[in-house]
Amino acid sequence: MVAVAVLGAVAAAVAFSGRTDQAQTSGADGPGAGVLPTASAKPATSTTAAPTSTEAASDPTATLATVPQASRPSPPVTIARGPSDADLLGEDVSSGDLRVPARPPNQGQYKALSSFAGKSGGFNPCRTTHYVVHAAGGPPNGLSLVQEAVRKLEAATGLRFSYDGTTEAIPASSPRSGRISDLKNVYEPVVIGWATHDQTDLFNNDNADTVGVAVPEVIIFDSGDRLFVSGAVVLLAGADLTPGFGAGATVGNVLLHELGHLVGLDHVDDTKELMQPTLSEDARDGYGPGDRRGLWNMGASRGCASTWIRLR
Ligand SMILES: [Zn+2]
Repeated sequence: MVAVAVLGAVAAAVAFSGRTDQAQTSGADGPGAGVLPTASAKPATSTTAAPTSTEAASDPTATLATVPQASRPSPPVTIARGPSDADLLGEDVSSGDLRVPARPPNQGQYKALSSFAGKSGGFNPCRTTHYVVHAAGGPPNGLSLVQEAVRKLEAATGLRFSYDGTTEAIPASSPRSGRISDLKNVYEPVVIGWATHDQTDLFNNDNADTVGVAVPEVIIFDSGDRLFVSGAVVLLAGADLTPGFGAGATVGNVLLHELGHLVGLDHVDDTKELMQPTLSEDARDGYGPGDRRGLWNMGASRGCASTWIRLR
């Protein structure tokens, strides 16, 4: 038996605001992320990330100096595990078949999600992560934008993703809080798509201008190691974003930013990075140099999780 906690552990949001006179407050009493005030007088996108598990919040390495934090009262659950560690990890890519991207130059800033600081948090590069898309509510080319964003994420990380089709399911916090009898069930597809603020709980703790939130779903093992197994990414239906890739407030940039959170990146202050907390109309086109270093470190460069995850 091994004790693990399965948590939707981090909500990381991106907000877009065309107004500068709006009062924005931190939401610290529920699931989700705090909200930073918009930092620019021009139309801007403010983004936040905050740990939402009490365990993470009590970890000194999880402290965010500049971001209001929220705690989700989601106690670890203890479950009985079945067969073998290999069965649990379910690796379907051998280490020899890992596609490690070229190592980016040592430039720019990146930061691991504070609640998962350390080498051992992240998706398993040796297990294909499946995803489904809720395209309704998005732009007409929304599905292809998601697929292209995931391809860019794969290229930067070496992680494997597989598109499993569209879904009627709306991206939301995992309902799987509590006892889980079969750990294999945690490997459900990541849900990526569009919703209104009323349709999903993922926006609950963010201001009205939030246009994207990402929540990785994480197993926390006895050892404290964290394995990302699934998650959700939601973009705001009807948001005033350019429906393509490119600089500024584009759907592509919001997708890439949220996918960065999904695989374990936190915000940085450097405005030359896509993971900056405030994205203006001047935001770069896609991932920056520090983003790419972070993504590289979150991916295939780590090797199979069976080499870095301690289950107990
Ligand atoms: Zn963000």
